[in-house]
Amino acid sequence: MLNTNNNTHIQKFKRSVLIKAALICFFIFISMYSFADSSDENTLLSSLDFSKAENLINDVRANKLDYLINEKKLTKAFELSKEQRWERLHLEAAALYAELLFRQERYKRLKHHLAFYLSNKQLTEQKDVHLLFLESQLKSLARNEDPTPAKNLAKELEKLIPQHSDNEKIIIFRALAYYYTDTDVLRKTLNAALEGLELALKNNDFAAQGYFYRKIADAYHLLTDVDKDKSKAVYYAKKAVKAYEKTSDGLFTAKAYWSLGNVLLEINDPNNALIQLNKALSYFKKVNMKKGLAFAQYSIADIQYLQGNYNTALTLVNQNIELARSAGIHDMHLASLILLADIYIKQNLLDKANQVNDEVYNNLDKFTRSIYKARFLAKRYELKRKLNYIDDAFEAIEDKLVYTKKHYEATSESNIKALQIKFEVKEREDKISQLEFEKDINKLQAIEEHQQKIIWRLSASIAFILVLVSLFLFYRQIRQRKKYHTIALTDYLTNSLNRRGVMQIADNLLANKPASIAIVDLDYFKNINDKFGHDTGDLVLIKFAQAAKDTLSENDTFGRYGGEEWLFVLNTLDKHKINDTFENLALTLSEYCREIEALPSKINITFSVGVAISNTHSKSLDVLIKHADQQLYKAKENGRNQIAIA
Ligand code: GH3
Ligand code: MG
Ligand code: MG
Repeated sequence: MLNTNNNTHIQKFKRSVLIKAALICFFIFISMYSFADSSDENTLLSSLDFSKAENLINDVRANKLDYLINEKKLTKAFELSKEQRWERLHLEAAALYAELLFRQERYKRLKHHLAFYLSNKQLTEQKDVHLLFLESQLKSLARNEDPTPAKNLAKELEKLIPQHSDNEKIIIFRALAYYYTDTDVLRKTLNAALEGLELALKNNDFAAQGYFYRKIADAYHLLTDVDKDKSKAVYYAKKAVKAYEKTSDGLFTAKAYWSLGNVLLEINDPNNALIQLNKALSYFKKVNMKKGLAFAQYSIADIQYLQGNYNTALTLVNQNIELARSAGIHDMHLASLILLADIYIKQNLLDKANQVNDEVYNNLDKFTRSIYKARFLAKRYELKRKLNYIDDAFEAIEDKLVYTKKHYEATSESNIKALQIKFEVKEREDKISQLEFEKDINKLQAIEEHQQKIIWRLSASIAFILVLVSLFLFYRQIRQRKKYHTIALTDYLTNSLNRRGVMQIADNLLANKPASIAIVDLDYFKNINDKFGHDTGDLVLIKFAQAAKDTLSENDTFGRYGGEEWLFVLNTLDKHKINDTFENLALTLSEYCREIEALPSKINITFSVGVAISNTHSKSLDVLIKHADQQLYKAKENGRNQIAIA
């Protein structure tokens, strides 16, 4: 019994575990699926159409988007444009894809890619795109063992310069500046970069400005043997950083910071250098560029070494040796080894230093620049001397001289030529300073104009608001005045005109044409008050006003003259019509007064009327009122509830 019970429990448990596992798998599957589906990247990739691909390509080309960060999108645009046979767009995408491959250091793939597209006949129709391919080709060829193809292409590009537009020339100068830096012909680098910079400044091309500024900075930095002053290198390196900060090119912004950091390091400003190098490091990380990471980390290790933090420097440099070795960056690998040897020397571990030094020496041919070799050999000479390895020391110093000479030859060419170029460079630099100055002035002017515009707009807005407020106040005053005017002419109890109101209208009317003036006085009104109360008396007055409003024609007016006396201005001179009017009023008044509950139905409210007609007497209101009053007196005398007309 217990057993079977246990078994069913186990079975139930197993089943629930299975169900749970299945549910978990299901949810993982669903969430993975929905995650993949909802990610921005995927939606963009699946929804890429012609205009989106075109926008993407434009943005990458204008350095509004980074190549490496947008690697997937760019690749997709490249593939899709091929699939869809959007030929012009595809060629442009392919040119950018070549740059991407270069930045990713996929050199083999790049070589095939370039070989394929450079044979495309349509390419010559798109001059600028063709130049982008040639730029990539030159960078690719510069990596070859055989220097001739690169040299020939560089010469070809130089010849092409005159027949191109400014933007196309910028591409050529960019390619040449790269090539000449790479081959150590630094004076030519300087020339190409300065010419390119001038065009980039004119065209507001910030990425190109940054590129040329950096190349100029690097050239001045490396031309130490000829020009000891590093201030120019610092100046241009700072400019490069500033220009690249205006773009979204993460990799080149990183490189600019790295260059600046290195120059600062050489002018003995390690604190500032460290700041710039850390910035470089964070940009290299952002775009996931291993080579850059190795370069920045090396420089940071170097600073730690210079500041005497040998343990920190040791950790960093060991990490970097690994990083550079695994990424196949020979220069960096060797530089890190040299730094390691330097640290060992400081720690008095001369044997270890010697071992590392020999390792570098055995790989001497892997250095790209003669100046690097010369600098290493100088260090080797010092170390070997310290260790008393005289032969090695002698060999090192001899080799050093060879490479120093090589570097000098490569950088200075012949003395006369160097001098000539130096003046040319000076001229160009002056021109660029002038351009920059003009740009700054223009910028200041634009800012000033902008501010002036804002002030104008602000003033106009304030004036407009003031006008609006004044208009509103004016309008309110008019309305208020109208309101007070009406109040001043209205009787508060009956809401009809008061004495002043009705007299004013009567005056105006009589000035234009003859009319009849009547004074109406309620009969025995005192009695009403006395018998039924003052409130009932008030109600009778209200009813009288209502009755008068309802019976008078549009042209006739009336108002409360005082107490229970009323003044009527009738637009007729006909006695019958006047009679009819007041008879109607008498009927309506008794009808309305029946609505007053406090007033017994047998009580009939009556009034007496005295009338004066203007054409038979005077035209003056005072005189007419006087006459009407006399007639009223007569009507009262004759027994009330009647009309007396003069
Ligand atoms: P007569 O027929 O001679 O005109 O008699 P009468 O009682 O109407 O006499 P008189 O015109 O002298 O009396 C006016 C009365 O009207 C006196 C006053 O108490 C009353 N009265 C004046 N103004 C008002 C008012 O605003 N409300 C009320 N309820 N009574 C008023
Ligand atoms: Mg009276
Ligand atoms: Mg009266």
